[in-house]
Amino acid sequence: MSKLSLDRILQSQGFGSRKYCRALIEDGDVAVNGAICTDYKTPIETEGLVLTVFDEEWTYREHLYIALYKPAGFECSRKPSHHPGVLTLLPEQFEWRAVQPVGRLDHDTTGLLLLSDDGAFIHAQSSPKRHVPKVYQATTAEPVTQALVDQLLAGVQLVDEPAPLAAVSCVQRGEHQLEIVLEQGKYHQVKRMLAAAGNHCAALHRSQIGGLTLDSLAIGEGEWCYLEKPQLELLV
Ligand code: URA
Repeated sequence: MSKLSLDRILQSQGFGSRKYCRALIEDGDVAVNGAICTDYKTPIETEGLVLTVFDEEWTYREHLYIALYKPAGFECSRKPSHHPGVLTLLPEQFEWRAVQPVGRLDHDTTGLLLLSDDGAFIHAQSSPKRHVPKVYQATTAEPVTQALVDQLLAGVQLVDEPAPLAAVSCVQRGEHQLEIVLEQGKYHQVKRMLAAAGNHCAALHRSQIGGLTLDSLAIGEGEWCYLEKPQLELLV
């Protein structure tokens, strides 16, 4: 339980500067649990709070935990250089809240991407000490062979890595399809491992992180959803 003034609440939810939020409130553009409120000073309980801003409803969230079905052609950086950033696929308020991707997918990789504004969560998820399995569906340029699967399971040596990196699991899913499970998150890891094993990654999709599958979220390409406690628990 915690109470905050309405201008602080709006600012914390990413609606803009304190000054701008005060103006929104005084202009009658904000409702608190369904009733217009023009007083920005009175403390309001944040738990279970529903704000309506310009006729759109927003449930108060101390932190944001988001799953995005990343399409190809978007960069995971907050300051993208060659392609639009993934943040352009989310509501503008999320950028104000300093939401950032948890780890990265290459601009041409599709699939499950987590984003958050909770520094502790981002740090914990990105820690190399955690071995959260990530499941990738790779399309290969050359046909998949048993020798390729065996090599990826045994481990391949990448430039700049002190020791060979191995897939936790690697299953052929089609003539040019591999399902690869990795526990590390090295730069371009799937692509570099396939190249080191003598093939080439033509397309890459991340279908699962820990126990959380993209399919279970029922979001289409380019769409996002909030992650609630039961889903976050699948990421450990
Ligand atoms: N491995 C890659 O090579 N690229 C990604 O985007 C993710 C894992």
